Amino acid sequence: MSEVLMDIQNLAKHFITGTNFFGKPVAVLKAVDGVSFTIDKGEAFGLVGESGCGKTTLGKVLVNLYRPTNGKLFFEGKDLTNLNEEQRRSYCKDIQMIFQDPYASLNPKMSVGDIIAEPIIINRLLPKSQVEERVIYLLNCVGLARHQRNRYPHEFSGGQRQRVGIARALAVEPKLIVCDEPVSALDVSIQAQVLNLLSDLKAEFGLTYLFIAHGMNVVKHISDRVGVMYLGKLVEIAQKRELYANPLHPYTQALLSAIPVINPEKKKERIILQGDVPSPINPPAGCHFYSRCFKKMDHCKLNEPVLKEVSPNHFVACHLFK
Ligand code: SF4
Repeated sequence: MSEVLMDIQNLAKHFITGTNFFGKPVAVLKAVDGVSFTIDKGEAFGLVGESGCGKTTLGKVLVNLYRPTNGKLFFEGKDLTNLNEEQRRSYCKDIQMIFQDPYASLNPKMSVGDIIAEPIIINRLLPKSQVEERVIYLLNCVGLARHQRNRYPHEFSGGQRQRVGIARALAVEPKLIVCDEPVSALDVSIQAQVLNLLSDLKAEFGLTYLFIAHGMNVVKHISDRVGVMYLGKLVEIAQKRELYANPLHPYTQALLSAIPVINPEKKKERIILQGDVPSPINPPAGCHFYSRCFKKMDHCKLNEPVLKEVSPNHFVACHLFK
C-alpha cells in the first residue's frame, strides 16, 4: 500500500497584475487554478505541459517560494498552509528544488564546496569538522571528484553545474525534490546522463520527485505517474504506462503525437494544435482547451469539465468522458 507524502488539495496561486485608482485588483493572473493530486512516498510524479501552463509556479508553491492563494498543502499529513512562516520554514529542509538553469541558481562568487556546504551549516546538520567530508561524499554521489570542490561554477560545464545543483539539494537529506525542468537547458547527449543520475539517486536515497518538464519524452524516462497541465489546471493524470498507451484528453494526445519515433511502423500522425493558448489573466469560460481542441462540442464552450476518474487511477477533465 503506497503512502501519501504530499497531498495537494484545490491549490491556487494567483498574481495581481493590475489595480485600479483605489488599489483594488482589476487584473489577476491565475497561474495555478484549483489543482488537486497526491505524490506518494518514493514516487516520481511527472508534471508536463507547455510553457506558461503554471507547472513551475506550482513547484515554487510546494517549496515555499510562493504562498498559495487558495487550497491546502499537506506534507506527511501536516497542513503546511496553517503554519506560520517560521514553522513552515522548518519544513523547507525536507522539500528541495533543482532549478532549470543551474548557472543562475549557483552563487558565482562561492566555490562549489562552499555552495554545497552552505545548507548543511545553516541547518546545523553536522559539526563543522565533518562538513568537508560530507561535501566530498555528495560530490562523489553526483559523479564529481573531490578536487573539484575548490572550483567556481563558471569552471564547470552545464551538465556538471546541474550535478552541483543536485548535490546541494541532497545536502539536507530532503524527502521530496521538485525537479523544475532540470535537463531542458542541457545538450541532448548530457540530458540522458543527468536523468540516469536522478534515477539512480532516487533508488539509492529513497527519494520522491515532482519532475516538471514540457516534453512528454523527458517525463516518460523518469516518472511513475504523469499529470498533464493546461492553463493552470490538471487535465489528465494516470500511471505512466496507461497514459502513454491510452491518452484520453485531446491535449495529451497532441503532446504525445509530437514525440519523435524512430521506428516508422510505430509512427502516429502528428496533431498540430491550431490557435493560441488563451491568456491566464482572463481564462475563458467552459473548457480552457476549447479554442484549440480538435474534438470540441458546443457543450464545451460554456461548461467547464471537472477532473474525474474514468478508469482505475486514470483521471481526465473532458466532456467526452462521462
Ligand atoms: Fe475538447 Fe470539449 Fe474535451 Fe475540452 S471538454 S478537451 S473542448 S472535447
